[in-house]
Amino acid sequence: MSAQQVLELIKEKNIEFVDFRFIDLSGRAHHITVPASEVEAETFENGVAFDGSSISGFRGIEESDMVMMPDTESVYVDPFTAHSTLIVVCNIHTPDGQRYDRDPRSIAHKAEEYLQKSGVGSAAFFAPESEFFIFDDVRYESSMNASSYFVDSEEAAWNTNRKEEGGNSGFKVGVKGGYVPVSPIDAQQDIRSEMVRQLQESGLRVERHHHEVATAGQAEINFRFDTLTKTADNLMKYKYIVHNVARQFGKTATFMPKPLFGDNGSGMHVHQSIFNEGEPLFYEKGGYANLSQMALHYIGGILHHAPALIAITNPSTNSFKRLVPGYEAPVNLVYSKGNRSAAVRIPVAAVTPKGCRIEFRTPDSTANPYLAFSAMLMAGLDGIKRKIDPSALGFGPFDTNIYELSEDQKKEIRSVPGSLDEALDALEADHDFLTEGGVFSKDFIENYVSFKRAEAKAVAIRVHPHEFSLYYDC
Ligand code: GLU
Ligand code: MG
Ligand code: MG
Repeated sequence: MSAQQVLELIKEKNIEFVDFRFIDLSGRAHHITVPASEVEAETFENGVAFDGSSISGFRGIEESDMVMMPDTESVYVDPFTAHSTLIVVCNIHTPDGQRYDRDPRSIAHKAEEYLQKSGVGSAAFFAPESEFFIFDDVRYESSMNASSYFVDSEEAAWNTNRKEEGGNSGFKVGVKGGYVPVSPIDAQQDIRSEMVRQLQESGLRVERHHHEVATAGQAEINFRFDTLTKTADNLMKYKYIVHNVARQFGKTATFMPKPLFGDNGSGMHVHQSIFNEGEPLFYEKGGYANLSQMALHYIGGILHHAPALIAITNPSTNSFKRLVPGYEAPVNLVYSKGNRSAAVRIPVAAVTPKGCRIEFRTPDSTANPYLAFSAMLMAGLDGIKRKIDPSALGFGPFDTNIYELSEDQKKEIRSVPGSLDEALDALEADHDFLTEGGVFSKDFIENYVSFKRAEAKAVAIRVHPHEFSLYYDC
């Protein structure tokens, strides 16, 4: 859509306000709203100024002026405002007109250009499965309060997470008992359906929705794959709509990876593949899981760089409370066509050559999608460039139950990092694959690491409620 077409749309739809948005380092959207009467052709040429120093992780106070440059392809009508408002996602520019190298969208665009220049293919496709919980306010408060940290049995977790005390357990979802039961056990179908309706009206092609495995309220909505930046934009739209529809129902939605101790957490598995001019490059009939050599090398790159990559795909202290055994979240840095504890899974059911893809199961939705998709692509491309054979490096494939392997075999299997700090150590040691072709700058990596170290420290220095049960009576 051209700027002129956006101006026509504003008239046609009687838009009263235009909401200019950008995305910060941690993947949160920010906005400045301008009356539609003030928006003209020049707005699209000159952009909208904002103070970059007030956004954590962006510029210092001495160089605060920044500009939002509208991406006219990204417009959609805000479903939640009382006054008709058009949302326009923007790229961030410095005052001298350069793209800002800490703008996540700038990195996503550079990653796509890098793919094209590499000669590997013309487009990479991504499809995230971003899970979340819908809590009502009482539950949200109860999961925030200390009691949930004290429990150490599933039964206790269930009781802690229930809104009401006592009563019978009929039609209620137990720990890990939430996978696709019909109502009245699934009490949130209408909320999810309303989310889907709003997503569709806002331009997303939604494929399905369902209740997820964890106790009452875990949900998943799947939308169709697209290219890297478009999928990241779609995920931002998805989270915005999920959060706000929940609010309309008097609920709250969270993408936090592990809100409940003792039950499944929420992941963001990311399906990915590379095409060249409409031809799928990851498919080869007869190979392992019908994967081409290129796809195997891509997997090699992902698994080889995984410890560093995870600092970007799982960038919160809470991320590592999800990545523990027993909850369908991956802990093993291996690939497999079936095993859900493997970091890379290759879906084989009902897969066509065009649908042939790999699924990286480690990420969660605290990731900034622009950075996470770009980093995964860069790791995969490095694998292709260096012909990293995942089997030669001991990454599998493992199709048996990993817990049934011999002790010697188990010793060979590497695990995901155990904490945000460990992942950041890995990123500090291994990031040349990201700075290749100038996609991520060194400055970006350094700034990102110190930004995230501060987060990890802020959590580490706080007294944890569970410390009372361990140490109070010492
Ligand atoms: N919730 C699980 C996770 O944390 C995934 C469940 C599934 O396979 O969809 O990754
Ligand atoms: Mg799921
Ligand atoms: Mg999945």
